[in-house]
Amino acid sequence: MPKNKKSLKNYRQKRNAHRTSEPMPEDSSLTGTGKRPIFVIQQHDASTLHFDFRIQDQGVLKSWAVPKGPSTDPKQKRLAIPTEDHPLAYADFEGIIPEGEYGAGTVLVWDRGEYENLNKDKGEEKSVSKQIKDGQVTIRLKGKKISGGYALIRTGDKRWLLIKMDDEQADARRNPVSTDPESVKSGLTLDEIREKSKE
Ligand code: MN
Repeated sequence: MPKNKKSLKNYRQKRNAHRTSEPMPEDSSLTGTGKRPIFVIQQHDASTLHFDFRIQDQGVLKSWAVPKGPSTDPKQKRLAIPTEDHPLAYADFEGIIPEGEYGAGTVLVWDRGEYENLNKDKGEEKSVSKQIKDGQVTIRLKGKKISGGYALIRTGDKRWLLIKMDDEQADARRNPVSTDPESVKSGLTLDEIREKSKE
């Protein structure tokens, strides 16, 4: 495993490659190839329904579980619980994690796109890695459902908040988490993904 993928050890140990169709770090065929870093938001119907918010950093996807999903209203601060780093190829994963396996349930690619680092410190860009370390990340997302500035702020041990920044894309009337349930990858809903898997 390449050196920068060491942080995927935890991911790998939780999963049995023979039982789940999730991408494995050693499958190097699928990696982010674009010039800009990517983000993905996956809806995950596991023991509890939640959203997983992931941003590319140094060859992996830094990840947070967001129980209520992202808001477009700057006043709605959403709890975000850090989870293990995921391989880049995970951004494309949609389907079923079998019963009995880690994270068992249905995964849907709810939104994805590129992002831009918004943190300029005295004219110098502060890397996303450093921002994560410091517990304060500001990025601009360019997704299909979600766009504009978002901040991730660490407020405690294993506790962050995901907050929409007050910009042109801020909109307190929108609620895409409930109005736009379909996958941006397949157009399917969670139920349809489940049905399809039975075919
Ligand atoms: Mn999850």
